[in-house]
Amino acid sequence: MAEQLILVVEDEPTLAEAVAARLRAERFAVRVAGDGPAAVAAVRESRPDLVVLDLMLPGFDGLEVCRRVQAISPVPVLMLTARDGETDQLVGLGVGADDYLTKPFSMRVLVARVRALLRRAGRASAPAVVRAGPIEVDPAARRVRCRDAEVHLTPTEFDLLHCLAGAPGSVFTRAQLLERVWDWTDASRTRAVDSHVKALRRKLGPGLIRTVHGVGYSLEVPA
Ligand code: CA
Repeated sequence: MAEQLILVVEDEPTLAEAVAARLRAERFAVRVAGDGPAAVAAVRESRPDLVVLDLMLPGFDGLEVCRRVQAISPVPVLMLTARDGETDQLVGLGVGADDYLTKPFSMRVLVARVRALLRRAGRASAPAVVRAGPIEVDPAARRVRCRDAEVHLTPTEFDLLHCLAGAPGSVFTRAQLLERVWDWTDASRTRAVDSHVKALRRKLGPGLIRTVHGVGYSLEVPA
């Protein structure tokens, strides 16, 4: 298994280094950021597997970091707080952190919490294989089989088929597909959908993807 990357966001250099050293000793790759903007930039660049995030930070605080980071990618966050009362408040607010640890904490507890969060995230990110008629989509391996033969798709074609195969027979509008597959809310870019559907049809063979004129597309599988 590849080394997992943990981003440590903490503005006290001594604590940041102590946490980083302990996590490295546990064979994690570690990156450290000292303020909010640096933390967001680090997540964008290196897509860590987990973020250890101090609440009180210069720039913008841990809550804002948490919000911005979750908007980039759904990464588990272990929030560090200064007081128990603070943690209670945050839990009440539902800020999007997955777990909390009150300072001062023992490194042993920190490592245990990090491992527990990574385990949970690992389970959540092993999505189920989708089967629809002759098509089998394996999102974990990003592989597709059609009539028992492997089909090689581009990442976008894959996501498009995964979406359609999730609800065979249902019609997805182009706008829905743009939003789900491309993360675009700009519904004027429907030609991107049409051209990828065309490519998918070429690879899967005829009769599987139905065009509903003026509406969108659906995956049709024999009953
Ligand atoms: Ca701090």
